[in-house]
Amino acid sequence: MNVLVTGGAGYIGSHACVQLIEAGHHVVVVDNFCNSFPESVDAIAEITGNRPTLINADIADRDCIEGLLSKHAIDAVMHFAGLKSVGESVAMPMAYYEANLVGTLRLVQAMDAADVRQLVFSSSATVYGEPERIPLDETCRLSATNPYGRTKLQIEDMLRDIGAADRRWRFSLLRYFNPAGAHPSGLMGEDPQDIPNNLMPFVAQVAVGKRDQLNVFGNDYSTNDGTGVRDYIHVQDLVRGHLSALSFLQTHPGVHVHNLGAGQGYSVLEVIAAFALAIALTMCMV
Ligand code: NAD
Repeated sequence: MNVLVTGGAGYIGSHACVQLIEAGHHVVVVDNFCNSFPESVDAIAEITGNRPTLINADIADRDCIEGLLSKHAIDAVMHFAGLKSVGESVAMPMAYYEANLVGTLRLVQAMDAADVRQLVFSSSATVYGEPERIPLDETCRLSATNPYGRTKLQIEDMLRDIGAADRRWRFSLLRYFNPAGAHPSGLMGEDPQDIPNNLMPFVAQVAVGKRDQLNVFGNDYSTNDGTGVRDYIHVQDLVRGHLSALSFLQTHPGVHVHNLGAGQGYSVLEVIAAFALAIALTMCMV
């Protein structure tokens, strides 16, 4: 298939490009590099021996997106582009509604005009808000506690409405838990330019001396060691889920929702201990 990957220069999108190419798909990347660099595509090319077409554009540029969907005879879109910091979304809600909600609307309008109606969307487990029960499954009540989460929920609602109005659409809404890890080549991984939003890059930056210390927030949660528990999923597994979703859509029209997690939670202290052990083992080997 010919697959357009929005945000394909970013953390998860770049890993998706590698697996798509390895599975024999033809990949076109569109990215405005607001949180990544064009060099990501060099890594994709080095790993796969195949350089995806790279277009520097914003997903909200409807005419541009419509043109490239037609020009490259795109069959399906994997949509990773968007802003993802909860804290930033509280400080700059307009930027988040513009980039995520309006951006996705423009993207699907361009797709509609170009007759491309298959989309795999990066949603988030944040759409469950305060969890109604644990473990969370796809039938749990939806809510959001911050502007970022609300953009994901509103995009999901919008895609559900579009899918209900026109049965030609095929949407896969993938609710990620906490993506972590990197490509085994070491050429790609999460490398935030700013203060990391997630625990794993924070721990990694302390480990390599980029930051002096790691602050653990909260020690009185009702967990085994009192620190927060999260479900971490390796980015390679997460991306495998996207390829499965894409192939599922070929035989299943309509709107489909899937959680992507490991199904097992780890506390902050457990993650730190595992990271320290991995470093110690690596030191023993060199
Ligand atoms: P990322 O910031 O590394 O990648 C996003 C990419 O999209 C970047 O390359 C950025 O430059 C690009 N981009 C942003 N806005 C754009 C626009 N308007 N037009 C074109 N390109 C644009 O983020 P990521 O961690 O790879 O996340 C990918 C998606 O997964 C996001 O939608 C995010 O909300 C979602 N998600 C991420 C996590 C996580 O913890 N990483 C968790 C749940 C959901």
